[in-house]
Amino acid sequence: MSCTATARSAEAAETAWQAEYHDALMPVFGTPQRLLVRGQGSHVWDADGNRYLDLLSGIAVNALGHAHPAIVEAVTEQISTLGHISNFFASRPQIEAASEVLALAKAPEGSTVFFSNSGAEANEAALKITRRTGRSKIVCVEGSFHGRTMGALALTSKAAYRAPFEPGVPGVVHVPFGDEAALRAAVDSDTAAVFFEPVQGESGVRRHPQGYLTAAREATSAVGALLVLDEVQTGVGRTGAWFAFQHPEIGEGVSPDVITLAKGLGGGMPIGATVAFGADVTKLLQAGQHGSTFSGNPLATAAALAVLRTLGQEGLVDRAAQLGASARDALTGLDEVSEVTGAGLLLGLELSDGQAKAVAAAALEAGYIVNPVTETRLRLAPPLIVTEDELLGFVRALPGIVADAAAQTASAEGAS
Ligand SMILES: *Cc1c(COP(=O)(O)O)cnc(C)c1O
Repeated sequence: MSCTATARSAEAAETAWQAEYHDALMPVFGTPQRLLVRGQGSHVWDADGNRYLDLLSGIAVNALGHAHPAIVEAVTEQISTLGHISNFFASRPQIEAASEVLALAKAPEGSTVFFSNSGAEANEAALKITRRTGRSKIVCVEGSFHGRTMGALALTSKAAYRAPFEPGVPGVVHVPFGDEAALRAAVDSDTAAVFFEPVQGESGVRRHPQGYLTAAREATSAVGALLVLDEVQTGVGRTGAWFAFQHPEIGEGVSPDVITLAKGLGGGMPIGATVAFGADVTKLLQAGQHGSTFSGNPLATAAALAVLRTLGQEGLVDRAAQLGASARDALTGLDEVSEVTGAGLLLGLELSDGQAKAVAAAALEAGYIVNPVTETRLRLAPPLIVTEDELLGFVRALPGIVADAAAQTASAEGAS
């Protein structure tokens, strides 16, 4: 029996920690693949001492990788000084993190930030802003993912996620992906907002066709509706621009009314943000109309500030664009990859033979964490501190990994 076959049969039987996991945690996530104990830079280690190159970074979260000194210092100092207050009080990190987000977004005068704890919550706040237009129709895009709370879920297109929880929040329509005419036709005088991701993450790292953001801006402006961009996954340098709406190809120079952030913003500390662009959007939410105990929590905002400043000081956003381009070039030369999607360090790899799950499993065995985002596509969202050697090392290893996956699938089929 080969090593990999041993590993596979070991995987089939539940390990002791998996049994403990299932005894204690709600079964919503299925079975985790490894018990991780430590991270450093672009790598994590499991409880058996195996090292993995983390090309997913906790789903586009760990922008500075693991245990980055800037975050460790910021969080350690903050928790030792002032960990949590309430919104009866203010803190410097809260004010500075909000100001930094607004400056990086080049948001106009009168723009403001609401901090929350997750992407779903950032979208909930955005949804409440849209309701304050006095309208309730929201136009979303098929393939969208906006989170799992009831409002964010209503915006999410996958019926399997929504169906068990009906009735959901009413008023949401989903237009076919990539269809500019359908988008324009759906936006009318009842429309509060058009709400979508500048690059769809969960449906496979999909970019809208050229002209789509421009069309969305035109259609919303024409009827006085808001344009809300969910940048939970694409924001904070991920696409090689600070925010995807600023990316020269993706953003098309469009100014949104609201953007939402989370994932990369805290570099591992839970935080979300809803940014209202301009005084007119800001004033839609009045005092008392929204809130959260943890909103602007000093610890989370200190981490966000450390992330934003470190990305800026180390030029990691431009570097994400360059590294993404070289990874794309290298991947485009492989027979195993039929298409590379995305931008910067958010990449989708369409596999010539499909089988994304089997390839991700073989990659894990080979020491790489990648995500089978669809049946046929892998998602890479490495830390923005990943080195070119690390990233291109994976590209060089990929043909062998794909071959391993095919061999394992064949032997599993032979055995059954
Ligand atoms: C992950 C994600 C969310 C949800 O964020 P959570 O922190 O999981 O609530 C929302 N929108 C997009 C685009 C995402 O990728």
